[in-house]
Amino acid sequence: MPKYIVVAGGVMSGVGKGVTTASIGKILQEYGYKVTAVKIDPYLNYDAGTLRPTEHGEVWVTDDGGEIDQDLGTYERFLNIDIPKRNNLTTGQVYKAVIDRERQGEYLGQTVQFIPHIIDEIKDRIKNASDSHDFVIIEVGGTIGDYENIPFLFALKSLERDIGKQNLSYVLVTYLPIPSHIEEMKTKPTQQAIRLLSEHGIFPDFIICRAKRALDVPRKKKIETYANIASEHVISEPDIETVYQIPLDLEKEKLGDKLLKEFGMKSRKNPEWQEWKRLVDDILSPKKNIKIAIVGKYIDIGDYNLADSYISINQALIHAGASLSTGVEINWLDSKMFESDKKSLTKLKNYDGIIVPGGFGSSGVEGKINAINFARTNKIPYLGLCYGLQLAVVEFARNVCGLKDAHTTEVSPKTSAPVIDVQPAQREILEKSMFGGTMRLGAYAAILKDKSQILRLYEDTGRLKDDEKRINELMKDKSQAFRLGILEKGKKTVLERHRHRYEVNPRFVDLLEKSGIVFSGHYERFDRTKLMEYIELPNHPFFIGTQAHPEFKSRLGNPSPLFYGFVKNASKR
Ligand code: GLN
Repeated sequence: MPKYIVVAGGVMSGVGKGVTTASIGKILQEYGYKVTAVKIDPYLNYDAGTLRPTEHGEVWVTDDGGEIDQDLGTYERFLNIDIPKRNNLTTGQVYKAVIDRERQGEYLGQTVQFIPHIIDEIKDRIKNASDSHDFVIIEVGGTIGDYENIPFLFALKSLERDIGKQNLSYVLVTYLPIPSHIEEMKTKPTQQAIRLLSEHGIFPDFIICRAKRALDVPRKKKIETYANIASEHVISEPDIETVYQIPLDLEKEKLGDKLLKEFGMKSRKNPEWQEWKRLVDDILSPKKNIKIAIVGKYIDIGDYNLADSYISINQALIHAGASLSTGVEINWLDSKMFESDKKSLTKLKNYDGIIVPGGFGSSGVEGKINAINFARTNKIPYLGLCYGLQLAVVEFARNVCGLKDAHTTEVSPKTSAPVIDVQPAQREILEKSMFGGTMRLGAYAAILKDKSQILRLYEDTGRLKDDEKRINELMKDKSQAFRLGILEKGKKTVLERHRHRYEVNPRFVDLLEKSGIVFSGHYERFDRTKLMEYIELPNHPFFIGTQAHPEFKSRLGNPSPLFYGFVKNASKR
């Protein structure tokens, strides 16, 4: 049976519960254990697919097509594993499952109630996600004291009773403010969080104290007395420069040993932190520095601008930078500026590389196309992600192939040159199979072209080998392999995650190719229809686009091949 570690947050949101959860997982992995993580989101949405990214941050996409809260991304980036969508529970999913079952008469006339039916459903979902892991770390979303997470705390308490306290441990992550007018660290909000948690019958086994500075002895003592736990279980987690330092800092407090001891377990291997430490050092003091422009659509909320909506791209650049000892400074540029004032395009000369990220709708699109044109003609390294590939094709069609009216039908449904369009057959298939509306979601395979720059990047970073191994496993399940587009063995195939609706229109592929675009990878549907997955331009230092979102498969120590190539080439400028 797996051991469970429940991580709940006190005082306020945004204190780093997600990275703490991921760091605990990383530590236990280093002690030789198989770890996974579960995120509980107490909102009523079924998943994060319909949430506004400007309010909620980026939507994370899993291999199996889930649209999830970005915490799952944090876990994957730390743990270097693929986490399926079932590892995310929302209130909406739980209630929907119970009500659907009630409508089908499965409760045989019982009164369906919060206790036990909702509670059982939550526990079943947690057990399902646990699989064959040694440790399952469960992060409870929201803050202790929220009305919404009461059912989940109740269910966890009930799980504790089912499996015994020796198999489940509670970690409270709190925040200790240091008000600027007194410059003193305050423990009162933490004391109150402990009390609120105790109202659910839960007493934390560990308290992780987030604060601007490390906790001093008197404050550790105060929390020890108040929470009634040994002061060595009060762990200090001060602010740091990069989140990847957190496992190292928690280990300085011997958290791994203490957790294992709590469960009466021993370490299976000696932790090896050297490589992780080297990567962290390269993030903190890189040998080189580059400046990257991300040309996107940004919306300010009050006085705050939400760069969080591109968190995975941000992280993918950090990972690639860490592997190349290159510091990446990211500037977020609003593409609209390149529409009203074309002269401002020369600003882009100050950058070592330009990214156009994923996006939807028409806002700022002409500005993005102008920026892509500038990158192409001035030979500035360019990486186009999903919309960034589509708009690069539009730019090329207009300015190289001479199709002045070329566009994506997402923006211009009546264009005479729909180089990017929804494929009718594709729409039908997606709708019929109900892979989530009409979006192509989750992992799909791409067959890479021999001798292409893209193939070389997947080879050099070791990803081609990793993906080939995974594909051999997937081939065992024919229907799965079919969906992913793995039709035969022996081709140079890689897997990346997708979240989009439109495709390069097959009608224009020949013309684009003749004019100089290389389509260096494609997806092959079971009816042998080919959808373009990658573009590259020869005679350019680095001009690459992908229909996928490779940022979702980037991990510290295992960077995404395209980001790796992009950062490497940008640093040559
Ligand atoms: N809007 C485009 C599409 O739906 C691109 C989506 C994206 O960038 N994720 O195909």
